[in-house]
Amino acid sequence: MMGVGTTIRRGRFSGEVSNIAVDSDNEESESSSSSLPPTRTITGSTGLQNGLPLLRYSFCKTIVQHQKDQKLKMGFNRYNKLVRSLIHTSRSRTTTYSCSSFYSNQWRTSATSSSPSCSDDPKTKSFSTISSSSYHLNGGPSYMRGAVFWEPNKPMTFEDFEMPRPKVNEVLIKTKACGVCHSDLHVIKGELPFSSPCVVGHEITGEVVEHGPLTDTKTIERLPLGARVVGAFIMPCGNCFFCTKGQDDLCEAFFAYNRAKGTLYDGETRLFLRGSGKPVYMYSMGGLAEYCVVPANALAILPHSLPYSESAVIGCAVFTAYGAMAHAAQVRPGDAVAVIGVGGVGSSCLQIARAFGASEIIAVDIQNDKLDKAKLLGATHVVNARTEDAVARIKEITGGMGVDTCVEALGNPKTFSQCVQSVRDGGKAVMIGLTLSGAKGEIDINHLVRRQIKVMGSYGGRARHDLPKLVKLAESGIFNLDAAVSRKCKFEEAGKAYEDLNKGSIIGRAVVEIM
Ligand SMILES: [Zn+2]
Ligand SMILES: [Zn+2]
Repeated sequence: MMGVGTTIRRGRFSGEVSNIAVDSDNEESESSSSSLPPTRTITGSTGLQNGLPLLRYSFCKTIVQHQKDQKLKMGFNRYNKLVRSLIHTSRSRTTTYSCSSFYSNQWRTSATSSSPSCSDDPKTKSFSTISSSSYHLNGGPSYMRGAVFWEPNKPMTFEDFEMPRPKVNEVLIKTKACGVCHSDLHVIKGELPFSSPCVVGHEITGEVVEHGPLTDTKTIERLPLGARVVGAFIMPCGNCFFCTKGQDDLCEAFFAYNRAKGTLYDGETRLFLRGSGKPVYMYSMGGLAEYCVVPANALAILPHSLPYSESAVIGCAVFTAYGAMAHAAQVRPGDAVAVIGVGGVGSSCLQIARAFGASEIIAVDIQNDKLDKAKLLGATHVVNARTEDAVARIKEITGGMGVDTCVEALGNPKTFSQCVQSVRDGGKAVMIGLTLSGAKGEIDINHLVRRQIKVMGSYGGRARHDLPKLVKLAESGIFNLDAAVSRKCKFEEAGKAYEDLNKGSIIGRAVVEIM
């Protein structure tokens, strides 16, 4: 006789619910003397776990728990019947909602459902309720607040949203903190065209509170409920041409859907205003809200030793700096590095350059307070470009050579040119600053050709590969998060934080604490 815990071989089920098949060769007559256990508290999520097709999380965890309990046995036929009926229930529950009414219907349906009709077998009817299965049905809120950007140069407003619901391989995060980044500001000022209304904020930490239906087991094991996580602003789909090559930073889905349309990768946003149901778009995960949906590929575990607020900057400032230094510039020990513009991202570049063993680290800015701070973050030299010729000074510091790598972190045609002129022959000019849509930079072509200057763009790191490393850099203190974050503000002060960022009065990085 085959017990539940031992008879299902890994790989007998496909990942597609509709294709799930059971191994008839292994079927045996119902001979179990034990029945399914009585009522259990059900928590967890969906996916394939221990080789089983897990459906709605409410059912899945229960099955797994049964599996693990080696004392419990049941006939395979009955087990298959149970699985099939759960599949049926899951499909009918997840596919019948139209887009516009999905959230409220889903909510109501979930909240009012009692026992799933697991089987017509009376024994399986003792299989318990799902109504307490997910956090929000268990006392959690049914709506949330988020900051909405409506149109350029209009103040953001705080609005109530239906509770966002994650889909497959997505995770609902209770947002703890969100960094205040210049890219958001470009959107807010209308310099970077983006779908609106939208929720900006793309540099988050938070707590896992729900997995989307049918999320795979490995993802759930990696990011269990209650896990502390940090999110990268580039959220790789994991399946496109670039993601399969490991180049998450070029993810086609991210650019085609999120950056071009303000949605996730099924072409839909997860944000809808409460009441009207009006869709609101998402800049990355739309982090300036109490909850956000993030594709699991963009998340890494945050250890308890790292605080939520300071760690938010890992997801963009540190991530962008790391991508520039590791993948574009490939900085090596002993290199000379200059960084033009030492705000949130630029100052993170200084720290990463120091971590990589750069010998000369030159910070260039026009604000002395930023340059003073730069010295604390690893700059061996500082240049005030308002009072000095930045290119000449960089050449002077490097014995006339120029730097191995110069990073432009402002997004400005003038500093673009300075960046190219500051690198040594064969050196790398790395552009990481976004700017006005359509802006052009000038380069002396002959200089570029003869001196083999490499001009390259860099846009963030590779989330699946890099984000865990960045967490380790922060955990070990090699990257000093405390020094990177210069201001913490309340959720209600998010608008003011962007105003101050626009004025240049934030030295380093501001973080909005949402909690
Ligand atoms: Zn950013
Ligand atoms: Zn991709």
